[in-house]
Amino acid sequence: MRPGIRPQEHWRSKRFRYMLEVLRCANCGTVNATRRSVCRRCRSTSLVRERLPERARLLAFTEVKSATDVHDEMAPYLVGLLEFEDGTRIVAQLTDADYEELRPGMEMEMVVRKIAQDGESGVIVYGFKFRPVVS
Ligand SMILES: [Zn+2]
Repeated sequence: MRPGIRPQEHWRSKRFRYMLEVLRCANCGTVNATRRSVCRRCRSTSLVRERLPERARLLAFTEVKSATDVHDEMAPYLVGLLEFEDGTRIVAQLTDADYEELRPGMEMEMVVRKIAQDGESGVIVYGFKFRPVVS
């Protein structure tokens, strides 16, 4: 297996990858997207589990034409900077849209899709992507 896909790491972050579940710091409000015991900003240990909304606004986007080994078979693909109602921002892959259809300010919704696949082992990693709101 190439070093790019580590199933254990993806398993540990499954609540974030499948449900957008984060740990918000009760002291400073910082959103911590990865499993941790202290806030990345203020080092507080008062972290509260919370789900981010499944809809966000697209701030900016680009097309990745040349990717790392793990994502190479998926290139070209779209990546966007998204902002939730509370101001939290994340970077995520975009799906179900062509580059020409996207506009800054568009409302996007989260869907779970294949993120990457290891060619040798066949390990498939799923996670969230965002697409233009359908309904
Ligand atoms: Zn904090």
